[in-house]
Amino acid sequence: MNSIDQVAAQLRSLRLASMAGALEPLLAQAEANELSYLQFAQSLVEREIGERNTKRIDLNRRKAGFPVAKHLEEFDYRHQSTITKRQVNQLLDFSFIDNRSNLVFIGPPGVGKTHLAIGIGHKALAAGYKVLFTTALALSEALEIAELKGELKKKISALSKFDLLIIDELGYLPMNKQGNYNLFQLINALYEYRSIILTTNKDFTSWGEFFVDENVAVPIVDRLIHHSHIFMLGGESYRLRQKLSG
Ligand code: ADP
Ligand code: MG
Repeated sequence: MNSIDQVAAQLRSLRLASMAGALEPLLAQAEANELSYLQFAQSLVEREIGERNTKRIDLNRRKAGFPVAKHLEEFDYRHQSTITKRQVNQLLDFSFIDNRSNLVFIGPPGVGKTHLAIGIGHKALAAGYKVLFTTALALSEALEIAELKGELKKKISALSKFDLLIIDELGYLPMNKQGNYNLFQLINALYEYRSIILTTNKDFTSWGEFFVDENVAVPIVDRLIHHSHIFMLGGESYRLRQKLSG
C-alpha cells in the first residue's frame, strides 16, 4: 500500500470519505499549483464540508414532501401583479425564518399561492433550512391519527424539528372540534419558535366559519398573524387563463 492509499484509508476510518476521495487529486493540484501547506489543508477540509452540505440538503429535500416541482424562476410576475419580484426576493434572505415569523398568502384559487410557497421552500432548502410541505388536510389527518394513538405531543415535537412548515390550503375544508384543538396545539408549539408559510383561500374575517370552535379560531389566527408578512393575492386564475388561451 503506498502512503496516499494509507492516508486515504485512515481518513475513511475517521468517516472523512470526501477528504479520502479527494486526497489524490487535491495533492496533485497542490503540487502543480505550488500551493502552501495551509492552502492544501484548507482545500481538503472545504471539500469535506462542501460535500456534507450537499448531502444534507439532498436529504432535507427528500424529506420536504413537495408535491410538485415549482420554482420561483418560473413564476411570472406579469401575470401575478399583486405581488412584486422585489417583495419575494426580499424574503429570500430568510430573516423571516431566523426571526420565527410567518408568511401568509391569501387569495382565490389559481393565483399562484402554492407555487410561491413551494418556490420559497426550495430556496430555503438550498440555504440549508429544514422544510416540510403539507396540505392542511393531510396535516389534520396526521395530527388526528397521532392524537388517537396518544402521540400528539410526539408528533408535534417531530414537526417542530423543521425550520419552516408550509401548510397549504387552510380553509378549503372545515375541521371538526378535535381537529381545531390539534391544530391549535401545533400552532401554539411553533409560535415564536418556528416559521410557517400558510396559504389560504379565506380572508381572516371568514376564518370563523372554518374553525368550528370560535374559542380556538381566535387564538390560532392571533398567533399565526402576530409576527407575519401577509400577502393578499388577487387577479384571475392562471390555470383558467391558460385554458382559455390554449
Ligand atoms: P393556488 O395555490 O393559488 O391555487 P397555484 O400556485 O397552484 O395556485 O397555481 C396554479 C397553477 O398555475 C400552477 O401550475 C402554477 O405553477 C401556475 N401559476 C400560477 N400563477 C403563476 C404565475 N404567476 N406564473 C407562472 N405560473 C403560475
Ligand atoms: Mg394552492
